[in-house]
Amino acid sequence: MSIYDIYAAAGISSLPVNPIEAASAVGVKTVKYSDICGIYCRSMEEIYRESRFGFSFEEHGKPVIAVNENACGVRRRRFTIAHELGHCVLGHVGKGRKPNGAEERAADSFAAALLAPVSVLRMCGVNSPEETARLCGITISAAGIRFSEIMHSCFGEEDLLIIMRFSGYIDKCLQCKNVHNRQINIFS
Ligand SMILES: [Zn+2]
Repeated sequence: MSIYDIYAAAGISSLPVNPIEAASAVGVKTVKYSDICGIYCRSMEEIYRESRFGFSFEEHGKPVIAVNENACGVRRRRFTIAHELGHCVLGHVGKGRKPNGAEERAADSFAAALLAPVSVLRMCGVNSPEETARLCGITISAAGIRFSEIMHSCFGEEDLLIIMRFSGYIDKCLQCKNVHNRQINIFS
């Protein structure tokens, strides 16, 4: 399943992307650590042994994302959920299975692509890691990595589909920038 397919399934056409909605649209439930103990009969100790931030597991043949609602800030949590959705979508989740190093990197790339679509950011004329972080709701460090990719990317077929899907958002983003720039000119 491609990032475009997930946007289409979840009706996502603007930033910031809600990773819980994206997961839900493809049949992946997201639960908080405090809820897993009751729902899935797991102890908090067992949960923390898996990860301090989040992990995914299979229950009745369906992948579930668990996220620590008390770890780090909301931006980091959004990335964790998107990363775990990557594991689910890319087939890294199964009984007693732990993702390997290559799968961790693939899940990170998936999360960056889902939350910070390079094609949309470039069409919006985003020109700093700070702006990337603000529009996408991701941390400055994640945005820094993504920003260098914005500068060096070429568009593929899927990027064009994503741009069409986000066209209303891109227009608004550009208009907002023009107004902003005009105001700066007036007052400078
Ligand atoms: Zn992972």
